[in-house]
Amino acid sequence: MKTVVKHDYEMACKWVADHIAQAINSYKGQKPFVLGLPTGSTPIGVYNELVRKYEAGEISFKNVITFNMDEYVGLPVEHPESYHSFMHRHFFDRIDIPKENINILNGNASDIQAECEGYERRIREAGGIRIFLGGIGEDGHIAFNEPGSSFDSRTREMPLEWETRVVNSRFFDNDPNKVPATALTVGVATICDADEVVILANGSKKALAVKNSLEGPVSNQWTASALQNHENAIFVLDEDAAALLSK
Ligand code: PGA
Repeated sequence: MKTVVKHDYEMACKWVADHIAQAINSYKGQKPFVLGLPTGSTPIGVYNELVRKYEAGEISFKNVITFNMDEYVGLPVEHPESYHSFMHRHFFDRIDIPKENINILNGNASDIQAECEGYERRIREAGGIRIFLGGIGEDGHIAFNEPGSSFDSRTREMPLEWETRVVNSRFFDNDPNKVPATALTVGVATICDADEVVILANGSKKALAVKNSLEGPVSNQWTASALQNHENAIFVLDEDAAALLSK
């Protein structure tokens, strides 16, 4: 596992965007390039930088297929805080990705199990994820794999920790009760199957999760510690998120 520490959030986002753009631009495979993507506050700077590169003619997403990590259950797709809305607002509506190449879990599916199994199948059929970009929760979650998630887990419905609902309530009138109680999420194994996993974290609020995930024992109490066993995982941090690391 590799750690990249940048002075601030902007520089960390630029590093990640450059890394993704370089991977897409140098890709020579037969099938489209498959990119796993997160929502949340953290990736917004990466999306802005990728959009800037697209507008500057430095990258095209015509040959890219995306799979998002997660989606709330029961929130209408058109709700401004659905992850469908988030992704279109911050990224998809601003680049040239074909609509049919965008995959986001359907949190309103009538058959949740079929939806989750179908998502895993679509990832496999696309040839697997080359780069999975993610953030990390203050409790160490990746996607919505809350503490205690099995490292063998696959796409499924997960109850959200109250702490996560409190953190996310900033988008729901500061009322944790308005944050959906469950979400569909790719599993820890789904993420770890990617050829490369890039976790971006900024700010002192993430420092404890970063320290426990990178330097603590590999334990499902800090989900992101699963990445210690991944051959090609990179944590990209600003100095505040890296502050508690011992080395
Ligand atoms: P954030 O969320 O980017 O909004 O901090 C990260 C996460 O919960 O994975």
